[in-house]
Amino acid sequence: MSAQAAVFHSGSLDESKPGDPLAYISASRLKSFLTCRLRFFYEKVLGLKAPASPALQIGKAVHAGLQHFNLARWRGGDTSPAATLQAYDKAYGELEVQGPVDYEGKDRTECIDTGQRVLDAYLGSDLASDPRRILGVEAYLRREEGLPLPLVGVLDLVLEGNVPVDFKTVASTPVLEDEAWQNELQLTAYHLLMQDATGEEPGQGELVYLTKTKAPKIVKQVLPPVTQVQIDRLKALIDVYADGVSREDYHPSPGMSCRWCSYRTQCAAWAGSKVRKAVGMAA
Ligand code: SF4
Repeated sequence: MSAQAAVFHSGSLDESKPGDPLAYISASRLKSFLTCRLRFFYEKVLGLKAPASPALQIGKAVHAGLQHFNLARWRGGDTSPAATLQAYDKAYGELEVQGPVDYEGKDRTECIDTGQRVLDAYLGSDLASDPRRILGVEAYLRREEGLPLPLVGVLDLVLEGNVPVDFKTVASTPVLEDEAWQNELQLTAYHLLMQDATGEEPGQGELVYLTKTKAPKIVKQVLPPVTQVQIDRLKALIDVYADGVSREDYHPSPGMSCRWCSYRTQCAAWAGSKVRKAVGMAA
């Protein structure tokens, strides 16, 4: 398939609901599993609900605003700041209805304002009028070949040259070297998905950071080309996931991520491999 003729269909992947962890693998599932298998089990397999943090709430609503804007650019809709902010406000309200937000003492109105400032900054930046043609928005891709589980991903934006773009809402100015390291699995997964969808080598992945600082900044990072080592590494980690999940090998991994974990009560009851029993005891 020619790169420029590739058709990327929009779709969604709701990973907030419980589901069969062997039905497919995504970058988000893999990262969660590798960070702490037990937390992955509670969150992604059992679907135990935890209140959203303000950062997650703002990030999801900003994402909805960007989605509206890019879809409008692609399909010829209303790209005005007013329409984009309206999409953001609507998503913010709908997310609150879907699940509680733990504002952690933060002011709700300030949180809403933060997201609006971030979106305003993006809309006023050069990136909002990127001259490259849009090939897909929320592009849903699935690859089955050569992997133990189907690989699924939804790419925020695909630009001319088969360039995958992902938006990140972040608290402070990003340290780009760290971000490239942190996001390697996701961008390598996108590379594999794009390769499969187009039959061609994808362009270098791009990350766009929207900082939630008082004066928000918009920073674009072009990542180095994906290497064969990164592809082999991703495939090996997917093997680790498929093997661990098949055996229901879910155990705690105490570390930095415990600071933000909402499942400490359940985790504290875990005393061996019988994870389901431990959950029942904690309930
Ligand atoms: S508290 Fe820490 S070890 Fe326990 S489930 Fe959460 S992240 Fe994992």
